[in-house]
This record gives sequence, C-alpha cells and structure tokens, in this order.
Amino acid sequence: MKTAGRQKKQGKIFVISGPSGSGKTTLLNRLTQDKEIGKLLIKSRSLTTRPRRWQERDGRDYFFVSPGEFKRLLKAKKILEWTRYLGYYYGTPRGEVEARLKKGGHIGFCLDLKGAALLKKIYPKNTVTVFVLPPSLETLKARIEGRSRSTDKKEVAQRLKLAAQELSAASDFDYCILNNNLQVALKELKEIVLTHIAS
Ligand code: ADP
Repeated sequence: MKTAGRQKKQGKIFVISGPSGSGKTTLLNRLTQDKEIGKLLIKSRSLTTRPRRWQERDGRDYFFVSPGEFKRLLKAKKILEWTRYLGYYYGTPRGEVEARLKKGGHIGFCLDLKGAALLKKIYPKNTVTVFVLPPSLETLKARIEGRSRSTDKKEVAQRLKLAAQELSAASDFDYCILNNNLQVALKELKEIVLTHIAS
C-alpha cells in the first residue's frame, strides 16, 4: 500500500550582502557560532581564486582554488552562482546547497549584490536578503585597512569606490542592518533569522 508522504519543507536561505568591509563575514560567522542559531544554520563556504588572508583557513572560510580548477567546476555546472571581483573569481558550490535545502536545513551566504539577486531569483520563496550598512565610508575604509596586513592602497581605493556605488542597492533588500555596534547588529540579524526559520 502506498502512503501519501508529506513533502519535507525546504530550508531557508539567508543572504547577507553589502559592501566589502561592512562586516558580512563577521556577522555570519558570529551567527553560526551562536548557541541557539548554530544548530539550525550553516554557513555556505564559497570557492575563490583570490589569495588566502593571514587569518583565513582553507575549507573553513573558503575553498581556495586555482583559476583553472574554478573554470573546470564552472564548465561541469558544479557552481550555483559566481562573480568576478577585483580580478578574482568567487562562486558557490552547488552540491552542498541543494542537498541541505532538500533536507529542510537552513543556509547563510555572504554574497555580492549579483549573487543575492540571483539566489532570490532561483529560490524566490525561501530566500531572505539582508543588506549590511557600514556607519560611514570613513569607518568602512578603516575596517578594510584594519583587516588586511598589506597596505595595498590601490586595492583599498578600488574596494571603496565599489562600496560607494553598492550602497544605493540597499533598498532592494528585504532587510537592512546598520553595523555600527557589532552586538546590536548581531542581535538584529538573529531576530530576522529566527523569525523566518519559525515561519
Ligand atoms: P566583509 O565580509 O563585509 O568584507 P568583514 O566581516 O571582513 O567584512 O569585516 C571587515 C573588518 O571590520 C574586519 O576586520 C572585522 O573584524 C571588522 N568589523 C566588522 N564589524 C565591525 C564592527 N561592528 N565594529 C568594528 N569592527 C568591525
């Protein structure tokens, strides 16, 4: 006898976006380390061809790959979405994401504007987008400089130029969070995630 199996509800996607240095990675890392949320939400790890920063670990923060490997994965359709930023490729591995969503698990992403829009388009019903705003461009500059050990002035200037353009996209997002005080921003993000997980 066949039983009418109830289809499992798909997991939710939380996309944290915003300019470089606004604090997306810090917020999502803290959120997935939270006692309550950590059990419910995993962070999607992106592939990147950019060099590893001193505090980053391969397989934890990113999968660091060569441009050749990135192109091979892209051709094999193993990358869900990708972008090129300041000469480097960034992409989301497809397999892990699709398997987790199917099982009803939730995933958090740190993505650029293009990636956020694409995920919303692919998964319109279960994607929640959050834009992280820096308190000011001066603070953003200080955070970008503070994060990097190198004093590549050209790269900082490029990131700031793009950041100024990206800020105008904030209104396209479901939520906007001001990342001035980290604890306050984290609390806001946690509330958004818990509300949508419960719905
Ligand atoms: P993004 O992922 O958006 O590029 P990061 O999370 O790497 O940004 O944050 C950039 C830098 O700013 C990091 O060194 C981080 O520790 C710092 N930072 C993030 N949020 C805050 C905050 N609220 N107050 C002070 N420093 C912060």
